[in-house]
Amino acid sequence: MEKILVANRGEIALRVMRTAKKMGIRTVAVYSEIDRDAPHVRFADEAVLLGPPPSGQSYLKGDLIIDAAKKLAVDGIHPGYGFLSENAGFAEATEKAGITFIGPSPYAIEIMGSKLAAKEAVKKYGIPMVPGTEEPVTDLTTAKKIAADVGYPILIKASAGGGGKGMRIVEKESDLGEQMERAVSEAVSAFGDGAVFIEKYITSPRHIEIQVLADQHGHTVHLFERECSVQRRHQKVVEEAPSSVLTPEVRAAMGAAAVKVAEACSYTGAGTVEFLVDSDLNFYFLEMNTRLQVEHPVTEWITGLDLVEQQIRIARGEPLAFQQDELKINGHALELRVYAEDPMNQFLPSIGKLTVYRKPEGDHVRVDDGYEAGMDIPIYYDPLIAKLVTWGEHRTAAIERMIRAIEDYRIEGVSTTLPFGRFVCKHPAFVSGDFDTRFVQLYFTPEKVKEENATAAELAAQLALHLYQRDVKKLQAPVHRSNPWWKSH
Ligand code: ADP
Ligand code: ADP
Ligand code: MG
Repeated sequence: MEKILVANRGEIALRVMRTAKKMGIRTVAVYSEIDRDAPHVRFADEAVLLGPPPSGQSYLKGDLIIDAAKKLAVDGIHPGYGFLSENAGFAEATEKAGITFIGPSPYAIEIMGSKLAAKEAVKKYGIPMVPGTEEPVTDLTTAKKIAADVGYPILIKASAGGGGKGMRIVEKESDLGEQMERAVSEAVSAFGDGAVFIEKYITSPRHIEIQVLADQHGHTVHLFERECSVQRRHQKVVEEAPSSVLTPEVRAAMGAAAVKVAEACSYTGAGTVEFLVDSDLNFYFLEMNTRLQVEHPVTEWITGLDLVEQQIRIARGEPLAFQQDELKINGHALELRVYAEDPMNQFLPSIGKLTVYRKPEGDHVRVDDGYEAGMDIPIYYDPLIAKLVTWGEHRTAAIERMIRAIEDYRIEGVSTTLPFGRFVCKHPAFVSGDFDTRFVQLYFTPEKVKEENATAAELAAQLALHLYQRDVKKLQAPVHRSNPWWKSH
């Protein structure tokens, strides 16, 4: 593979291109009109304009992307995450054009892209699942019966859902009708597929997922877990590896289950099998994401592997260069998604210009970003500015490094999730490891961040005063006894 087109934007486009470059592979960027000057466009060896900013007219234009790839004699397309990454039709069209799709087969994408088809496929392998329906639910009478069987609260989910969208919690039967109607219409408008199903709502689960890698020669391994329980709107904000609760036995059992899930769809490439884990460490299969995951850097750090390099090697037909028992967890890694969102205002997107942008540096700090000072955060796409990742020999060291890195990160012009990240890293529940997906609901209020900011500002002021007084003392030491002003202090 000599030339790769990256069908994405922002931090992930840059991140993929960096590895390609390291491997001596030339890169092609695609971009929308609003991304003309974006770092991913400048970084690439060549770049192709797709169209106007809305993703439907640019980054989702699979046909335009494949045409460009053919014209520029590209031999591989990397889809990143989001956009076309889980689009089986795009993967198929890429292969038909004689270009390698750097990802799994259209068949695997298709099965795992539907949460219901995925459950069906893995059922025969004895993978534990959240109680619920196996078929789409269409009428209220059936829904009522199923909900009564599994017991309230229940969750109505869009089979084609993703990115935390298309989910509704129902507490009692009288709400079921209305919530089902809403769930179906949301699923139609967001995913073009109105199929919904019912799952028991697990009230205090942890979200723990397993990274898998599978080559084209039938060899599948797992790269341990990532804990992603700190979420807002059912979407992750803080992730870490390893999880602070898994025992070696449960880790091995979840790893083996994830490998089976991958094998159930003849998976190839990098993929993620997501589970919910209850307080007794029982785990339940949620879904499989057939692509590189946003939070993959924490896994890279604890395993020492470059997952994009692995994806490319697998796509080239190379066998995995290691066995399961050669993989070891080294230390602890933590990731904060730095979104242009206002944590003080329900995490609503905060768009605008990055008037100041300075990222933290230092050993064991990694920043994957796609913006620079002076750039606007467009309203058209996911408002992720960067991923801030830290590593430590143990969890406490990674957390402390994260707090320092957050304090060194300067972003002005938009609100970000940085203050939220610091709140999480200082919260006793997070520090102790005893938390679940209700973290935000249970502990987070804007007032607490304000208080924390105020205390931090006050401490900083006190420290500055103390240092100032000490310096003044030093400077004035020879004379201060005879100085009447000084005496009074
Ligand atoms: P991850 O699953 O990698 O942790 P997210 O759930 O945050 O990451 O999704 C990453 C990106 O992909 C987001 O921009 C999200 O909106 C998008 N995305 C994920 N799944 C889907 C889907 N089924 N349809 C459309 N967009 C999706
Ligand atoms: P998506 O495709 O949007 O990522 P998931 O099925 O992976 O959807 O669920 C996203 C999040 O929603 C999970 O990480 C978890 O926090 C919550 N969730 C999903 N299913 C359940 C459930 N049955 N009970 C409780 N929480 C759930
Ligand atoms: Mg998910």
